[in-house]
Amino acid sequence: MTTKHVISVSGGKDSTALLLEALSRCPPESVIPIFCDTGNEHVSTYAYLDYLEQALDIKIVRLKADFSEEIAAKRRFIARDVRTARKDGQRVRWTNKAKRRALEALKPTGNPFVDLCLWKGRFPSRLAQFCTQELKRNVAVLFQMDLIDQGYSVISWQGVRRDESVNRRKARKFERIGPRLRAFRPLVDWTAQQCFERHRVAGILPNPLYRQGMSRVGCLPCIHCGKAAIREIAARFPDEIERIAKMERLVSRASKRGFSTFFHKWTHAPGERRLDIFAMENVQAIVEWSRTRRGGRQLDLLSPNPEMCASAYGLCE
Ligand code: SF4
Repeated sequence: MTTKHVISVSGGKDSTALLLEALSRCPPESVIPIFCDTGNEHVSTYAYLDYLEQALDIKIVRLKADFSEEIAAKRRFIARDVRTARKDGQRVRWTNKAKRRALEALKPTGNPFVDLCLWKGRFPSRLAQFCTQELKRNVAVLFQMDLIDQGYSVISWQGVRRDESVNRRKARKFERIGPRLRAFRPLVDWTAQQCFERHRVAGILPNPLYRQGMSRVGCLPCIHCGKAAIREIAARFPDEIERIAKMERLVSRASKRGFSTFFHKWTHAPGERRLDIFAMENVQAIVEWSRTRRGGRQLDLLSPNPEMCASAYGLCE
């Protein structure tokens, strides 16, 4: 049975080192690099993938989640929602005003990150991190299942390093996921420095975002960005902040509450006015906060490593 080695490439240092390892160890025709495009990446990352394709003479399969069916189903649900008050007195139905506002906003844009948030009516958060699963994991798994259906055996190469975070400390090098599907994580014992060294040995440049002050590559920004990273992104890539601000306005219109913010940095008292919360947490306000010295009420204390994606799949750097 023929084996295909599927390499999840994000454009970051780990997945590029992983790709270089795969190309040096496996027959070239058995290696399939894939890139799950979240639609929330910096333009440099797309250019870097083009560079990798050219420098390594490979094709990277670009995959994108599509939420148009989910959005259509949500439109139908909102339009028909005529539920009345619950027993505890809390209103659960959409008001007519919220319905009109949401139905006007709820249209697929073709950008996976935006469409996912429109469908959910909110942005992901640390406690509801649906982005990794919907934008990366499910897309990669579907691709691999397709290969299995075609009769291949699949080895899913994942660029996980144990020293990255507590969540990844126990990552296994080999794992059987299911029939004809195994995970292989050859970098579990590597350091970040070894990944950069692997680039140097192969004569491959790292993603230029590292030279521009970014400590990680992937969504830019990521919902997990800490204060320093937000400040850095705002200083170097103000257009990305403007893009997120636009996204917040759109997703807010599709939300039952009428607002949703990209970052969730503060805890809020029950009954706090939604306009006050939006004023405090919208991306522009968070950028302002990132330039201050005050810490504020940080929700991120819940996480042992606030700047890391919590995914154990190595899909978000
Ligand atoms: S990089 Fe961050 S925002 Fe992007 S999918 Fe992963 S956790 Fe979500």
